[in-house]
Amino acid sequence: YIPTDGGLATEVPPHTGKKTVLVTGAAGFIGSWVADTLLARGDDVVIVDEVNSYYDVRTKRSNVAMLLEKYGPNRVKFFEGDLCDAPFITRIFETEGVEWVVHMAARAGVRPSIEDPFVYVHSNVEATTRLLELSRLHGVKSFVFASSSSVYGGSQKEVFSEKDVVDFPVSPYAATKKSCELMAHTYSHLYGLNIAGLRFFTVYGPRGRPDMAPYKFIDLVARGQEIMQFGDGSTSRDYTYISDIVDGVVRSLDRPAGYQIYNLGNGSPVSLSSFIKLVEKSVGTPAKIRVCPEQPGDVPRTCADISKARAMLGYNPSVAFADGIDKTVGWYQNRAAMNAAAAAVADNADDVIAEE
Ligand code: NAD
Repeated sequence: YIPTDGGLATEVPPHTGKKTVLVTGAAGFIGSWVADTLLARGDDVVIVDEVNSYYDVRTKRSNVAMLLEKYGPNRVKFFEGDLCDAPFITRIFETEGVEWVVHMAARAGVRPSIEDPFVYVHSNVEATTRLLELSRLHGVKSFVFASSSSVYGGSQKEVFSEKDVVDFPVSPYAATKKSCELMAHTYSHLYGLNIAGLRFFTVYGPRGRPDMAPYKFIDLVARGQEIMQFGDGSTSRDYTYISDIVDGVVRSLDRPAGYQIYNLGNGSPVSLSSFIKLVEKSVGTPAKIRVCPEQPGDVPRTCADISKARAMLGYNPSVAFADGIDKTVGWYQNRAAMNAAAAAVADNADDVIAEE
């Protein structure tokens, strides 16, 4: 496998008693870092992921292989399948002694959700409901799940707070995330489950998703290809580095407090133009920019009010955007060099076979 470690910036959070944690979506970007961090501090992890082809399956398989190799089969177990497959996921709860859940699996991506909303209802709303139902049956102590800043949708506010009424999602993806929050709230109310819904704000860093702008722009600029800038460059995002997000996820798991929604962002939005300039500087190559019209479903600005997560979780994002981009570019370049070396070895092997 290709090692996908990028080195996280923060310390491994303190251990508060060994847990067996079900981490869904741990073949993916955020879930793999959460699983890695929990394992590093001594918890055991049960991974469930269907390893779908929303993006490169090899990347997801290498994330799982890395975790299995690093921690061994006694500490980490991997079950490949769909969370909506009731007998499959029920058996895992019955046999693995799951008492803690970090639910990161979902079909992500705003624009593709407009093309195919049904897969989003399946993998987001149905899968979350299945897990909530099993969690209440098995007395889960703390259930943490990924929501999204996209639930703020058409909000006109400068800064988004958990107290805002959010009833205006502008994409099917956002609508499914809001639906997951509503279903989770209902389960907490009915059965007293401790649930934290985490509204992540544009997460980036090593192992980042190839369909998202940070990875895409770094990759295209590094390869001298054109990047598409949607709009005039003034739209802005509250980019949040992966280690800060993982820290917030683990803190919310360790501090169950009834039903809570937390913004996990950085609290300092960056415009698209500034973002492109930082990528150019870090990669060391000027970007070739094609300006395109803004896309339906996109929101003009996101900015998290993180005071609640600070007060209740001690969440304190520490990676400035320029540093985070440098770390991500470092990881990208390292990975590209390793891929090239692996390809050269494979070519060599072919030559040897051809000569024989
Ligand atoms: P990702 O696509 O890298 O990981 C999601 C994983 O879930 C994938 O490995 C996929 O195979 C798995 N999965 C999807 N549907 C499944 C199903 N039905 N059964 C089993 N496995 C399934 O995405 P990510 O960026 O790591 O996002 C993690 C979570 O955070 C998602 O819920 C996403 O919606 C949310 N989120 C991410 C961001 C971000 O910036 N990356 C922002 C807001 C919210």
